[in-house]
Parts: sequence; structure tokens; C-alpha cells
Amino acid sequence: MSKKIYLNIEGIGNEVIELFSKTTTSEFRSFLCNVADYSDDPDIILKLYKHDGTIIPISPEIEPNTEKKPYRLIFRKKKPINQLENSTSSNNIIGTNNKENKEDEDRLNINPRVSSTSTSTTPIKTPCPAKNKVENVEMIYRHNIERPSFNKDVIEHLKKPTFDIWKWKENGMISLLEHMFIDLGLLDSFKINFDTLDNFLHCCKLCYNKNPFHNFIHCFCVTQMMYGIINITNLVNILTPREKLILMLSCIAHDLDHPGCNNVYQVNAKTDLALLYNDQSPLENHHCAVFFYILKKPEANVLESLSNEEFVEVRKGIIQCILATDMAKHSQLVGQFKDMTDKFDFKNEEHRNMLLLMLIKSADISNEVRPTHVAEPWVDNLLEEFFMQHDKELVEGLPVSALMDRKKVKKSITQSNFIAFVMIPIFEAMAKVLPNMNDNVIKPIRTSLAYYKNLEV
Ligand SMILES: [Zn+2]
Repeated sequence: MSKKIYLNIEGIGNEVIELFSKTTTSEFRSFLCNVADYSDDPDIILKLYKHDGTIIPISPEIEPNTEKKPYRLIFRKKKPINQLENSTSSNNIIGTNNKENKEDEDRLNINPRVSSTSTSTTPIKTPCPAKNKVENVEMIYRHNIERPSFNKDVIEHLKKPTFDIWKWKENGMISLLEHMFIDLGLLDSFKINFDTLDNFLHCCKLCYNKNPFHNFIHCFCVTQMMYGIINITNLVNILTPREKLILMLSCIAHDLDHPGCNNVYQVNAKTDLALLYNDQSPLENHHCAVFFYILKKPEANVLESLSNEEFVEVRKGIIQCILATDMAKHSQLVGQFKDMTDKFDFKNEEHRNMLLLMLIKSADISNEVRPTHVAEPWVDNLLEEFFMQHDKELVEGLPVSALMDRKKVKKSITQSNFIAFVMIPIFEAMAKVLPNMNDNVIKPIRTSLAYYKNLEV
């Protein structure tokens, strides 16, 4: 007697094995290791998941399954005791958001897509921090996922900068992102399988750390603002499908695995990222690399149907967009764009490319376009992240910035300077090229400026 078992093996893909009734547990384990090209080493942990995410024992008593619902098989190395406190991923998590941590813990029981912080396994280490991050995210890929549906009010509101992100939980945000992709026609234009999109977005969510500011909710805000701006300015009818894909994916990816300390810290502390990227935008290079490592997972590769030629173009566009979010390049890029605005021509490829950079840069710093009750918590979150960096720099004996010193910073002054000297110039330059910016974007920013100026008094 024998039975067929369908497997989805991490890093390999789908396999089918035949199991005979006399097979013992250790033979079964060896067999699984062989199939996946792993040595049957006691330091290797095998985990087998059912379609619904339940972990099942590695036992020859395993129930036969179907091709459509393969068991997911993953391999992890046991973590040596001296490495237990040394995991990069946990170092990067500044745990200030207990609610979200609880939400993830809850999902362990009810939802298969979970980031594991188990101490029984060790991260697989490669010399590339981006590869490490992605390979150590414990994703359970799902199939036949239902598409989201929202009522008319939500659908309309989602296209506006006034959208209240605080009313949504992170999994709800994933469904909203899916809706945006569907609405922009990206699934049809690029033959993106819906399950792949869902798995990709969950994988990205798990690759965002729980920083006070640079977290998955910030990623959602930036992407939603991008969707809002391209809708209110009619760019939705002007941009090509490829440009829309580049913008949406760049927004989703633009802060992946942000460690909560900025480039200045990376360089001064000579972190792995600074050394790897020779001090050139180490964070932005890393965010981008994490994104392309996520795409190496077949179940999350939203670009799998693109021709080679198209992939090269989309990759180039995404790299340019994400690297442009380094604020050290802000004045230079905005200056270049301003020089184009008088003779801006949508038929000029260089102009269009620069507009894409302005769109992601402005979406990235757009919180003050939102109503005060939505925007203000972000100021507190960013300051908290800055203060934590300042504390860390003091402890490590590194140069510090007065702008991050909790004893010196005055929120109202910091924020009104940021709005007046960073936000308004870029949004006003864009308003010269794009319609409907004044009422929907510039006016709310000026209202915010007045609010913080008023607090200064
Ligand atoms: Zn950002």
C-alpha cells in the first residue's frame, strides 16, 4: 500500500512523493531531506504545514492530500545558544507597538502568514543582509485566495488624501492595496496572479520592522497617497501601465526592513549596510535589494510574467524611484525638477522619469496633506524614532544631531520648518505640472503649517 503526498518545498517548488505503509518516521524525515537536497542533519528542523497553516507532525501517518492543496515544507537550522540573542531581525525590531505584536501573535493561531520569532531556529546567514532578511521570514504561502470587496464609500475615499488610515488594521490595508492594483488594471496588464499578489504583499509586510515610524503602516500611507495623487491629478489616464506598476511597487518596497536608524547613523556606526554599499544611500539600496529578493520567491514574484526586456525596464524604474527617496538628494532632485517645470512636456521621457521621482518623494513625505488627526501621530512617531537613534548614538559614542535630541527638539518648530522648507517647495513645483493640486494637496499643507505655527506661539 502506498499514498501520494504533494509538497510545496521552500526554495524548490512543488514535488510529489510516494509513501509506503512500512516507512518509519526517521525514513520519512530522511526522504524529505533528500527531496529538498538537505543533509539529514539533526541540526536541521523540518516543518510541515497544511494548506490552512496548521503545523503537522513529520510522520508516515500523514494524511494524503491533493495537488491543489500541497503541504508546505520548510527547513531551518537550529539556533546555537550563543546566537540566541544575536538575531539581526530581532535587533531591528524596536518593539514599541505592543498591539501589533499581539496582532501577529494572534495570527499565529488563526492565520498561516506569520513572522516567526521562535527561539528554536536560527537565521540562515549569508553575506547579504537583504538576502538574510528575506530568507528568514517565515512565510506560509496560500492559494485560491478570495479577492477583496469594499463598499462604494471606501472605494471613493481611498482615492483621496483625506483617507483615514487609522481606521484600518494591517491585514485590511493589504486588501486595500490589492484593490488599488486591481483598480489600476495592473493584474490584467502584467498577468499578475491574485494569489501571488497577496503572498507578495504579506511577505513585504513581514519584511517591515515594527519601528515607531518606518513600519508597514507608513508603507501603506505612502502607497495610498500615491494612488490618491494619481487619481486626483488625472495621471491615472496619462501614465502608462508600466509607470503605474513602477510607482506602486516602489511605494510598497521603499522602506523594507528599515532598521529605525538613518543613513547618517549607518555611516557613522560603520554598519554592515554602510560597508556593503560604500556609504552610498545604504538604507535605500537595502530596501530595494530586499524587494528584489522577495521576488526571488516564486510564490511572491509579481513580475514573473514580464518579458526579460520589460523586467529590465521595470527594475530600472523601481531602483531609480527607491534611491530617490534618500533625503540627502532632496534639494538636488527638486532643483532639477523645478528647472523642467516651465517647459514640462509629457512626451519627453526625461521629464516623465523625473516626475515619477517627484511623485514617490512627495508621497513619502506627505503626511501633512492628511487631516490633522491622521497626520499628527506620525510626527510623534518620527520624533520617537529620532530620539531612540539619538540615545543609541550617545551610548555608542557616535556623533549626535540636535534635531534628534529629546531635550532640545520642539515639535511645533521642527514641523513648521519641515512643512515650509521641504514640503511646500516640492508640492508647489508639482502643482505647476499637475492639475487639481491646489485644493486637494497644497491647501491642506498650508492648513497644517498654520496649525504648527500657532502652536509655536
Ligand atoms: Zn518612507
